[in-house]
Amino acid sequence: MRLMITLVTCLLLWSLMILVLFFNIFNHQVHNAATTGSENSAKPRDKLLGGLLTEEFDESSCLSRYQSSLYRKPSPFKPSRYLVSKLRNYEKLHKRCGPGTEAYKKATENLVHDDVASKSVGECRYIVWIAVYGLGNRILTLASVFLYALLTERIMLVDQRKDIIDLFCEPFPGTSWLLPLDFPLTDQLDSFNKESPRCYGTMLKNLAINSTTIESIIPASYLCFYLIHDYEDHDKMFFCERDQSLIRQVPWLVFNSNLYFIPSLWLIPSFQTELSKLFPQKETVFHHLTRYLIHPTNQVWGMITRSYNAYLSRADERLGIQVRVFSNPAGYFPHVMSQILACAQREKLLPEVFASEPQVPNTSRSPKLKAVLVTSLYPEYSEELRTMYWEGPSSTGDIIQVYQPSQEMYQQTDNKLHDQKALAEIYLLSLTDHIVTSDSSTFGYVAQGLGGLKPWILYKPKNHTAPDPPCVRAVSMEPCFLRAPLYGCQAKNVKITPFVRYCEDRITGLKLVDSVYQP
Ligand code: GDP
Repeated sequence: MRLMITLVTCLLLWSLMILVLFFNIFNHQVHNAATTGSENSAKPRDKLLGGLLTEEFDESSCLSRYQSSLYRKPSPFKPSRYLVSKLRNYEKLHKRCGPGTEAYKKATENLVHDDVASKSVGECRYIVWIAVYGLGNRILTLASVFLYALLTERIMLVDQRKDIIDLFCEPFPGTSWLLPLDFPLTDQLDSFNKESPRCYGTMLKNLAINSTTIESIIPASYLCFYLIHDYEDHDKMFFCERDQSLIRQVPWLVFNSNLYFIPSLWLIPSFQTELSKLFPQKETVFHHLTRYLIHPTNQVWGMITRSYNAYLSRADERLGIQVRVFSNPAGYFPHVMSQILACAQREKLLPEVFASEPQVPNTSRSPKLKAVLVTSLYPEYSEELRTMYWEGPSSTGDIIQVYQPSQEMYQQTDNKLHDQKALAEIYLLSLTDHIVTSDSSTFGYVAQGLGGLKPWILYKPKNHTAPDPPCVRAVSMEPCFLRAPLYGCQAKNVKITPFVRYCEDRITGLKLVDSVYQP
């Protein structure tokens, strides 16, 4: 009898343990499901982003491509049908002309013979994109060069000698956007600078070509364009109508650029009608192009989703603050800290902090959890913010949680892990609800465009003092073309085109807007 009782007790205990184990596993899974993805995971999601993306890709090779919709709110901006069909046609052209095709082989053979190439421009014409400057600059020029490729029916190939394959997935299905390493001009790509005799501006300056006669031809199989911030008037002739008709004849174009030059493409009359059809909402150009082109690799996506699930997914509201300090030396400055706070509190993005604990707890509404994502090379800005909201209670009773994924201390462009962290942070910023950015920073421009966010831009501090007002709300989410040509062939159009205006953070820069500008 005693044995019987012991046996039954053991059995009962055993079943109880199994039950507890099952319960734990179940609970863990439910919790994971809730934190993987955003609050949108229950809603039907638009994984192709309104037709912007093709369904042709294998999902596992690039998780970010089809999973981004789990983490972002649906964009209120839909791509036009015309843009969608243009992208599908581009993808077909890229398949026909891309690396490994007969057309590519022929085009590269002709590349070394200027006379043959200029006479036999076939269906396939090319643009080569070179990786220069920081990641923000690179993403802006990828979008600019790609749009120029769409407009001129060329295909875009990207220089892969830096770490592009560690950052981005292939954007075009069934082919590759990577310029093969045995491309005949690979060794020369780095010499396409301001003085290069093969760059368009230099050729004009040296009178090697003359763009003023309509019948001009350029006897060249390739040309480079120097569109870097210190470019000169001759280089800026790229943006003239007459020069565009000359450039059309050349089979290979190489772009050395760090500028978001799309606003000035709109000022070239022969492109304007097509651009208006592609982008009826002007300020969505970069938003759509970047969502089409930029898909972080699985490694970067892991960094993004881990951060998001750990620090952002449960928040009621997410605020991104991007701190870029351009002064020399750069680093932590108290006036920059006060400027960030002044902006965030004045614009009601963050609450004030009470000097002492309230006597009666505020029970009028349940407190919100507000996650603040700070990105900066330096740790001090987020540390100060975190300390501030720990030491004192927020005036609204809201809970402020501050998070900074990395503190790299200095720019290390082309270091793989450093660039991957930079991309992860740009992307995380784009997943927030509101964003404060630093003036003239392409890092911030990419985040705002990807996220479809109109940022509050921190003005450039002068004489080590926080400016007043500290920041301004951008009129559009478009990046600024920081060194746009304002004179020469574009002068008249800059003045009369209603959807191009001077940037909030750079009075000589140009950006696209939808609203009519009221000075
Ligand atoms: P810009 O110089 O601000 O226009 O932006 P870029 O992205 O072109 O260049 C700055 C580079 O510095 C980035 O690409 C990163 O390599 C690095 N960097 C600047 N700010 C940050 C930051 O907040 N986080 C990280 N991880 N890197 C940054």
